[in-house]
Amino acid sequence: MLLLIESDLLKKTIVVATKNEHKVREFKSICTGMDFKFVSLTAFPEIKSVREDGKTFEENAIKKAVYVAKKTGCFAIADDSGICIDALGGKPGIRSARFAGYKGDEANNSKVFRSLKGVSDKDRKAHYHCSIAIASPDKVIGCCEGKVYGRITHERIGEKGFGYDPLFYFPPFKKTFAQVSLKQKNRVSHRAKALKKAVRILKKLK
Ligand code: IMP
Repeated sequence: MLLLIESDLLKKTIVVATKNEHKVREFKSICTGMDFKFVSLTAFPEIKSVREDGKTFEENAIKKAVYVAKKTGCFAIADDSGICIDALGGKPGIRSARFAGYKGDEANNSKVFRSLKGVSDKDRKAHYHCSIAIASPDKVIGCCEGKVYGRITHERIGEKGFGYDPLFYFPPFKKTFAQVSLKQKNRVSHRAKALKKAVRILKKLK
């Protein structure tokens, strides 16, 4: 009986494969009304972060989800995301966090502006991509993705958001992602779109 209760508890827990509490909150806010308890990797300090050395967002998300599910014995959900710029052949893509080396957002943004010097508005198309994978300790349960399309500005605009948001102009808003609230961004963002698809997969797990 005790074993049954314990395995049921394990089943209902989903580990979000990140130590970033901001992401966990985002996951929770979209995955409301579900019969799952979301915990982040901070609940498992012994688990080291996994090397994101895949060739695609999907590979990285699956690698993280499988690793964390195996280590914890719970279901795990993991994401990998970034910005892809057409004029740069899709770069920085999976290397978005480290486009300018590990020097942070400011340096990454400056490198984008330098790389697009002289490129006109119509050729500054870009999109954010997010892949989300769900795994149990013994298999990959599913993977889904979300994208949002816009273009790169010529200067930083806005103070909100993070990463590439001050230079990602989203035409339907006529603003960059750094000029809108998180609530507005979450209505259209790559992560929210992927998460909504992930929720459909999670609901089938019940
Ligand atoms: P990760 O999915 O946490 O590995 O994020 C990869 C990188 O992509 C981040 O460090 C940011 O530079 C960029 N990125 C991903 N999503 C967003 C977003 O919603 N806004 C701004 N930058 C993002």
